[in-house]
Amino acid sequence: MGNAATKEKIKLARTKLKTHLKTKGEHADFEMTETFCLYWWHWLNNAIFDGILTPPTRIELRCFRDSMGWCKPWRPNAKARRVTIGLSTDICERKEFLTILAHEMVHQWEWEVAKKWEPNIAHGKRFFSWRGKLRVRAGLPLERTY
Ligand SMILES: [Zn+2]
Repeated sequence: MGNAATKEKIKLARTKLKTHLKTKGEHADFEMTETFCLYWWHWLNNAIFDGILTPPTRIELRCFRDSMGWCKPWRPNAKARRVTIGLSTDICERKEFLTILAHEMVHQWEWEVAKKWEPNIAHGKRFFSWRGKLRVRAGLPLERTY
């Protein structure tokens, strides 16, 4: 588990995300690189998850046939839980990018923190219990598909 963020860090991250979405949400002015994705992963981790998630082992960036994003759980050893995250290079707007990344991070939370992973009910009650928090903490929607 990563280091929990301080109250101040959390507040700063929430403000930064909301301002960013308001002023640049529609902008398609970025290149999808692993550095770019990890940078925003950290802001989302602090704003939404109090900084408790562990950075993904890898972020895979390419065009996927049938999804815009995915999160795959794995275990480096019997106790540890980690994920790899995939993001489509077809994503072009900043709000779309952050919405999809936050969605995959809710799956990450389910695996790392709730310690649950049911492939047949990927978007169940526990998943959607994050809908209100995503909206209030980061100004982002939580939708079923990506
Ligand atoms: Zn999903």
